[in-house]
Amino acid sequence: MPKKRKKDRKARKRRVPGQAGTVAEVEDFLDDEECEELEAHEDRDIFRQFTQVYPAPADAVQAACSGEQVEWHGRVEGGLMRHRVLGGDNPVVEQAVFMDGFLASASCCGWLQAQDTAKAERGILTTLAELHEVCRPVLEAEIRTIRPDYRAQELHPFSEEAGDGPQGFPRFGLRVTYPARELTDWEQTRDPATWNMAQVFSSFLGYDEQIPELGRDALIARLQLNGVPAIRCVRCGVPLTDRHPRWNGVWTCPIAEIGTLCEVSSDAYDHDGTYMFTDSDFGHPHQPEHSLLT
Ligand SMILES: [Zn+2]
Repeated sequence: MPKKRKKDRKARKRRVPGQAGTVAEVEDFLDDEECEELEAHEDRDIFRQFTQVYPAPADAVQAACSGEQVEWHGRVEGGLMRHRVLGGDNPVVEQAVFMDGFLASASCCGWLQAQDTAKAERGILTTLAELHEVCRPVLEAEIRTIRPDYRAQELHPFSEEAGDGPQGFPRFGLRVTYPARELTDWEQTRDPATWNMAQVFSSFLGYDEQIPELGRDALIARLQLNGVPAIRCVRCGVPLTDRHPRWNGVWTCPIAEIGTLCEVSSDAYDHDGTYMFTDSDFGHPHQPEHSLLT
């Protein structure tokens, strides 16, 4: 099972600039009781439909080999994951987690900025591989406190076409495949550190506080080093692009509620007796870092 989220709801509900939309934001609208219910429901529903239809991996392999699409995807504890069976001569079960959070928005903006998107794509894959190398021992050690002989799976970065990706931005993630014919139980395909790797991409569990390489400055620096021209706002810190065709030449970030609007201190909205509106109601544009601008 993935690690439990911190119980501090306030901390979880606080919107983190640069954080992509997640289940937690939906939870803003729920009270604590509904929240607990949602969590219990989340836990119960993991794989349930999937495993009801395919009680054992062999059943799923048979279905996949006869052309059926055998796939589960969803969010567990806020982390975006997929489980699927790929048929063929050597069928495999794939356990995948997807890039998310600040790294995803920074990668997307960097990819949109790039002159050479193939090079940017390679850079994002390298970044994912490096981050996994950094995180894997930490995730493994956590699970070893309860399972001393545990070894975390080695994951491989991947990208794939995403039908709804912005301007063709691919879907990125990390995955492991298990030769399906060797499996007797689904549990053999549920590596807990792999699941927890999905949580690394969100800020909920505080891995970014525990692992310095996951800090925002460090992520931006690593992307840049790997040839991804990731640019941030010097004022509010969100990743930026001015190459989205709907916002041509305007610096924006792929988080709908932020977009082109730089975050300003909330007292700018305190009108303090002003009848209509003040000049600050027009907001401020983002201010890109200049290091990578040409
Ligand atoms: Zn800004």
